[in-house]
Parts: sequence; structure tokens; C-alpha cells
Amino acid sequence: MSNVRIQDDLYHYVNQETIDSLVIPDDMPTTGGFTTLATEVEKLMINEFNDLCKNENYPNEHVQRACALYKAVKNVRKRNAAGMKPAIKKLAKLEKMGSIATFNRNLSDLVLNRYALPFHIMVDTDMKDTLNHCLYIQGPSVILPDASYYSEAMAEQGKAILGIWVNMAKAILAKSNLTEEQQEKYLQDTLAFDALLGGLVKTREEWSNYIEMYNPVKTNRVASMLKPINFKKLLSKLFGFIPETVIVTEPRYFKAFKQVFNEENFEMYKHWAYVTGLVGACSYLSEELRELGSTYQRAINGIKSNTPLEKFAYKLASSLYAEPIGLYYGEKYFGEEAKKDIVSIVNQIIETYKNRILNNEFLEQSTKEKAILKLSTMGVKMGYPDKVDPAYDKLVFDEKANLYTIMQQLGAVRTAYGLSKLGKPVNREEWAMPGHMVNACYNPTVNDITFPAAILQAPFYSIKQSRSENLGGIGAVIGHEISHAFDSNGAKCDENGNINNWWTKQDTKKFNKKIDAMTKQFDGIELPWGKVNGKFIVSENMADNGGMAVTLDIMSRTENASYEEYFTNWARVWCMKAKPEYLQLLLSLDVHGPAILRANMQPRNFPEWYETFNVKKTDKMYIAPNKRVVIW
Ligand SMILES: [Zn+2]
Repeated sequence: MSNVRIQDDLYHYVNQETIDSLVIPDDMPTTGGFTTLATEVEKLMINEFNDLCKNENYPNEHVQRACALYKAVKNVRKRNAAGMKPAIKKLAKLEKMGSIATFNRNLSDLVLNRYALPFHIMVDTDMKDTLNHCLYIQGPSVILPDASYYSEAMAEQGKAILGIWVNMAKAILAKSNLTEEQQEKYLQDTLAFDALLGGLVKTREEWSNYIEMYNPVKTNRVASMLKPINFKKLLSKLFGFIPETVIVTEPRYFKAFKQVFNEENFEMYKHWAYVTGLVGACSYLSEELRELGSTYQRAINGIKSNTPLEKFAYKLASSLYAEPIGLYYGEKYFGEEAKKDIVSIVNQIIETYKNRILNNEFLEQSTKEKAILKLSTMGVKMGYPDKVDPAYDKLVFDEKANLYTIMQQLGAVRTAYGLSKLGKPVNREEWAMPGHMVNACYNPTVNDITFPAAILQAPFYSIKQSRSENLGGIGAVIGHEISHAFDSNGAKCDENGNINNWWTKQDTKKFNKKIDAMTKQFDGIELPWGKVNGKFIVSENMADNGGMAVTLDIMSRTENASYEEYFTNWARVWCMKAKPEYLQLLLSLDVHGPAILRANMQPRNFPEWYETFNVKKTDKMYIAPNKRVVIW
């Protein structure tokens, strides 16, 4: 048993023994909690894949194709024989383009075949008219884990990490058909182009305010920003018409686009596209290249060895055929009894949420009514969908081809399908997550929550666990997802998911004060692996706070409630053992706070914590009543 006191450190009091016994697998950056559960699902499903492939007894053609892909990954002999050739063949097309005029002529082809471009276009739900789609444009991502690594504050870390990438890229280029001189030139150009992007594209912190990505701009204006690219010609080729507006998600980048992409930089861009394309291709080439191509990711995550072949094959197949695999998993492993029980918990949480809003003193009546409307219309997707999205019917490939070519074929199908949605209504029945995923989410544009079957297991949920444990586990997670409807982003959308201000001025002011208070609670906390950015993680912390408030409310009306069990299971689900490199990386990449803080910070905002464990001023998990924040 650990010698920490629960009043000082709930997380370690509950988890220390487990953490001591956990061993992080060599091919992973972390284990415990979510990851342990995900690993169990993965093992189970790898066995399923092996059985399916062996018996060739497939339940449907989608699963059959997933298995064909699984086999193609495992066919090492074929991949090794093809070597780097298939990727070089694709990238040669870039090399042949002598000018931006040729580039423009080939642009729709480059988009459809997923070449690295200085911009990305995609069709997604219109955030102000969520029944319909619209066109979005954004900048490319950079080699470093985030654009913030190019900032002055992180320059040193960025440089060290980039050094690892450069060594890997050199080793990969050495195996290409480029001369030594070319390799050197390509690499230098790649780094120069990436640094140019790094100073302009958004950081994760900026992306975390997702409402700010919605900047509708007239297409004519976008086209002139993008010159020398012939944007309108591209759109008419891809869609057969030119949409009136485009949502510019990264205004800073596109205002400066001409500095990035012009005749003078064209070769630099091509080399960047070539090298990043080649590095990105490695996973699907020979085993040697798959190993080599993982060096950088492994180093920055603190991972010792590469993902084993079988696991890699499963991960690829189950992510490309996510919904059919999720459906297979759900039908086989998820019980109707559990589903009914959890749906009843969800309904209870939504009803409790409504009452809390009705009775809270900080909102005016009109704001309350809108909030309650948003809760009343919230959709619930639990377990797995009844049927697979028709998109999967199109996901076919030549089973005789090599893996890289297969991936190109599937990529092209997916891109074309995504773009074909422009002008068509949004399918609000679509699931945001597949059944075999250990996660949950709130979709702000649909105003619904999704709980895949795989997360509906212990420690989050079990029919065998007490109601208090389930409320501290899955209950708090359900409350968390519902709270995203009212976090710093979600609160800006209405009951249909449209960006729409339904708040009175007075209420907005009060709400912003609460956001600030929650930001301050976390901002600047020093952990052994780095400092916490309170603004970056505020929406997730608000969601945790809401999840705890609503489930503690239910606890107060639950027969034989045990707050000890509630808080213990709350801390248990956050159990995590991780490599320091990974923890450090998460501080700048993950909108969620570090696991230890998720476990230890929210309880101290609630009186039940102090009452249950007799927590006093002298205890570490004490904060003064006037510093406590309860949002909903
Ligand atoms: Zn969340």
C-alpha cells in the first residue's frame, strides 16, 4: 500500500500500487486506465482477425476487405520485394513538374491522390448551418509535433527534436534513387520550407478554440489570396461548380500565403513535398523502411521498439474499416442489458443537468431556457450503429497490389468521397467513433454524444460494480461529454449545433469569469515533466467539472451511496504510467490535462470531497472555499 494520504494525493493513494506493478510495453509510450482497456480490446480483436482470415468465413464484404488489408500488411515478402519503388514512382510526378503552370494543370490530381500540398481543402459540416456541408481550407501540418515548437520559447526543444527527424530523413533518402548532392539539397529545402510554415500555421493551442476556425470568405477573395494557384479552376474541376464561400480556418497563414508559395519557392516546396511524402510512405513499404520510418515518432514518445507487425496490421485495418469492425465487435461483445442500464444512467444525467440549470442562480431565464432546450434535443449514440455508413461500400482495392498501392487506392477513394459531400445534406446519423474504440465524445455540430461499446467496461462501467463506482467512472465521463455542450466552445453553439449566440450579455460576462477561474486553477502548475498551459486545456477541465457536479448531484439521491467508492473510481480511471518524453509531448499536444491533475484537481471544487475524507486546510488537496469553481 502506498504511504500517501488520500487527503494529499487522491491519484497516488488509489493508483500507486497499480502503477508500481504496471510495465509499459516496449512499443508503447504509456499504459494503465484507458490504454490498458484499449490494449485488451486490441488483443481480442487481433485473435478475431486471425480466426477470420484462417477460416475465411467473413460476416460481410466490409470485414472481408479489412481482413484482406490485414493480410497485405502481414505479407512482408511482397512488401520487401517492392522496396521503396512504389513510393518513388508516385513522387516522381512531383519532380517532373517544372513550373507552377504545370502544377496548376495537375492540381486536382494532386489533391485527389493526397500529395503534400501547401494547402488542404476539405468538405465538412457548415458550423453555422449544420444541416449542410461547406468547403474548408487549411494550412499543412509541420514536421515538428506542433507549430509551437518553432516558437522562440520552445526553440531549443524544437531544434533537438528536429535533429532526430533529420537523421531519420537522411537515412531514408540514402535508400532512394537520388544522388548524394540531391539528397542534401532536398533535405535543406524541406527544412527551410517547413520553418516557413512553422511561423504561420496554427498551434494546437490556437486550434483548441475551434469556433475561431469559422471564417467564411468569398471564393474570389480566397482565390486571390492563393495566387499563383489557380484555385477556381481547381474547384470547378473537383466539384463541377464553384462554391460561393470558403471557410478559411487559418487566416494568418493564408494572408501570408504568397510568401510561402511562389515561383521562387516552387522547388523548395517540391522538395518538401517529396521528402515528407517519402518519409510518410515508409510505414507501407518494406519492413526495414517501416522500422526506419518510425524512428522519429518513437524518439519523441519515448518508445523503445516499433509496433509489432501483427498489431500494426490490425491497427491499420481496423482504422480504415473502423465502422464495420466496430459493428462486428459491438454485436459480439456488447450486451443489451448493459446498454439499457447505461442509457438509463444517461437519461438520469441529462434530467439532473436540466434541473441544475433550472435552479442555478447565475443565469437569466432566457439563457436557462436555451440551455435546457439544448439538453432536451441532445442525441445519444450508445454502443455501435445499427448499420454501416454507405461510404464503406466504396472502399474497395486491388487485393493483388502491394500495400503502398493499396493505401494509395484507399486514400484516393476516401478523398473523393469526402469531397463528393459538397452540396449534399449532412448525415446526422453518422457515428463519430466506432464501437471498438475506448473513448467517448460530444459532437458540437450535431449536438450529440457518442459512447462506443468498448468504453462501456470496467473500470468505467460494470453491472458488477456499485452504482457509486459507476457514477464516478462512466457517469462522470457521460457528464463530461454532455458538459462539452456548455464548455468555452460548445456554449457558442445552439441546440442544432449552429454557431449562434444564445446568451444574454450579462450571462456571457459571468460565464467568462468562470472560464477564467478554471483556467487559473490549472495554469502554470509545475509537473516534473513541464508546465501546464491552463488556457489550452480549459474546455476539457470545464467538462470534467460539469461531469463531477452532475454525478455528485445524483449521488446525493442514490440509495447506499458511497462517496469513497465514487472518488476512488474517479481516480482509478485516470491511472496512467507513461514515458517522460510522452508526458512532455502531451503538454503541448493534448487538449486534456495531465491524468494526475484530472484525478486530483476537480474533487477539491466540491464539498463532498471535504466531507467524505475530512480534508483540512493543512492537507494538500484543500483549496479555500472562495477559490473553488463549480460551473454547472
Ligand atoms: Zn472532453
